[in-house]
Amino acid sequence: MFKKILIANRSEIAVRVIRAARELGIKTVAVYSEADRESRHVAMADESVCIGPGPSKLSYLDQEAVLSAAKITGADAIHPGYGFLSENADFSELCAKRGFTFIGPPPAASRKLGFKSTGKAVATVANVPVVPGTEGDITTDVSKEVAAIGYPVLIKASAGGGGKGMRIVRTPAELKPQLEAAATEAKAAFGDGSVFIEKLLERPRHVEIQIIADNHGNVVAFPERDCTVQRRHQKLVEESPSPALTPEIRRDMQAAAIRLAKAANYQNVGTVEFLFQDGKFYFIEVNARLQVEHPVTEAVAGVDLMELMIRVAAGEKLPFGQERASEIRCHAIEHRINAEDPDNNFMPCPGRIESIELPGGAGVRVDTHVYAGYTIPSYYDSMIAKLIISAGDRPTALRRSLRALGELKIVGVKTTAGMHAKVVAHPVFMSGDFDTHFIEKTGLLDAKEPSNV
Ligand code: ADP
Repeated sequence: MFKKILIANRSEIAVRVIRAARELGIKTVAVYSEADRESRHVAMADESVCIGPGPSKLSYLDQEAVLSAAKITGADAIHPGYGFLSENADFSELCAKRGFTFIGPPPAASRKLGFKSTGKAVATVANVPVVPGTEGDITTDVSKEVAAIGYPVLIKASAGGGGKGMRIVRTPAELKPQLEAAATEAKAAFGDGSVFIEKLLERPRHVEIQIIADNHGNVVAFPERDCTVQRRHQKLVEESPSPALTPEIRRDMQAAAIRLAKAANYQNVGTVEFLFQDGKFYFIEVNARLQVEHPVTEAVAGVDLMELMIRVAAGEKLPFGQERASEIRCHAIEHRINAEDPDNNFMPCPGRIESIELPGGAGVRVDTHVYAGYTIPSYYDSMIAKLIISAGDRPTALRRSLRALGELKIVGVKTTAGMHAKVVAHPVFMSGDFDTHFIEKTGLLDAKEPSNV
């Protein structure tokens, strides 16, 4: 087992890694930017190293700075968290070259699955259904191919993420100009202008399968997470089990995720994302890292994914098989609480937290790095806490969510907590019968911003 893990991240996920490492008797090193001196992860870690100024490019994304910090502190492994360097195969390769274990998938597997288009190619070979679309990235005139797929279609950036770089095309006349615009946008946002086209599903749910694979050929898939409640393709609420899945579909989805992982020689944790419509599921992409919403699975399956990913990275075998991984022990819901102003188009709302009261009690878990007196820096994403609610069944979980959201009191910055309460109390959400357009259709956020989808 590792002796010392360096965490190449910040915020609640850095705190999460420190907690798991401490339980395993492993020392931790926090790295931080000048803007994050006061962050809780810095105070909690056994050691800390400042790696640069506030902007991520000059600190959390500076590979040499992270690796130097690992070297001078004598760390033997690096945990990338999510975002930043977590899906950068060049970085994980560099870690190995310098003698550090990267706690995540091997570079070859993340290269295969990291791009949406190549991931789809692997899925097709593994006999996993994909959303119909162009084969690979677009290099020639595809108007005939797109006509055969059938309008409306969606242009996607292969390197895309965070819901960025997607454009709907409803008519053949829009195809060429939209493709050009999308490629330019993708190049600017991701440094890679590759795009491809997919059929636009009109009423999908987003359902994903968490997997974990050890280095001995064992892979298991957990019960699904339903992340259908989104705003601008960004997840807001995640729950498990999905109110829309039958046990048969769950089993098929898990089997598909395992086939895909095996086809890519995948190791460590990953998430296989699907769209689900009219009783059928279609692969969209793999997230080759631990995701924000992993605690939903931890609650439902009664496992510690962070501990497991550290153990398998250290070469241990998975301690259980598929039967255990399939167990559904409760209903769980996660609320992402962002420091954003709901009355001003959800603009990020950095600033000082004057006071904070966190909810508690049975079935309430809070993952956060903030505290009273903490100033949220403006450089990073606006998520300040995750509430993970669990209960015996969905109606009880929803009531508990409302209770916990009501207990959460933050003074100093505006947050999305009230919006979550509106979602949970909405009769359509309660019914369980909704799609990815739930937020717009219900007018819950009274969104006035232009949306392309
Ligand atoms: P990103 O990596 O940017 O998050 P994804 O491919 O994971 O992009 O898709 C994000 C969301 O966009 C999905 O959860 C879904 O709501 C929507 N979406 C993606 N592909 C399609 C599609 N073919 N049809 C309809 N909606 C889609």
